[in-house]
Amino acid sequence: MGRGVCTTLALMLRMQRCSEPGCERHTVWDRGTCAGHERGLEELVREVSARLVAERELSGMSLAGLTLHGLDLRERRFDFCSLSGSELSFLDFSRCRLRYVYFDFASVLHCTFREADIGMCVFGGARIEDCDFSGSDIIQSNFLGARCLRSSWSDSDLYSSRFVSAQFRDVEMRNCNLKEVHFDLPPDLSDAEAAWEAAPRLGIDLRSSNTRDAVYGGKR
Ligand SMILES: [Zn+2]
Repeated sequence: MGRGVCTTLALMLRMQRCSEPGCERHTVWDRGTCAGHERGLEELVREVSARLVAERELSGMSLAGLTLHGLDLRERRFDFCSLSGSELSFLDFSRCRLRYVYFDFASVLHCTFREADIGMCVFGGARIEDCDFSGSDIIQSNFLGARCLRSSWSDSDLYSSRFVSAQFRDVEMRNCNLKEVHFDLPPDLSDAEAAWEAAPRLGIDLRSSNTRDAVYGGKR
């Protein structure tokens, strides 16, 4: 993200700079420090987890750098929230509505986003393993440089999302709308048959998706 975007996001998240001298990170939750300098981190994680489960909607909150595990967050609504650099495991975001939620450089392990409505979200540089995004609308979202392992986006509308420089291993994107989706994959994948034949090498199964409508390294 550019500096301007960071500043805008910080304002929307009502974040300030960490009060620890020399620390450039932003504050977490309602605290005066970042997660790394928060002294009552265990209590904070308990407080945040309870609030996440209790609330139906969450807006403008920073959860950056927190470790969150095993939460049922189905059908929640998140707007302008940061989970940047967080360690997330066994979280259930099924049928959630996410807008401008930042998962950049987070570890997202064994998380479910089935039938979620995801728009303008950022997973850049994230580690995504054993996750299920199937049956979702994932519009104009960014997976730039994400490392994707054993995960599925099948039966999803991925319109205008970006997987540039992403790494894939054992990934399924079957029966997806790939219109204007950007990949670094070779342009010959515009042929669905070639895409399937190349799948073991590329680590991604694109069968039954409209691969011709995707953008490959700037070439359609
Ligand atoms: Zn700090």
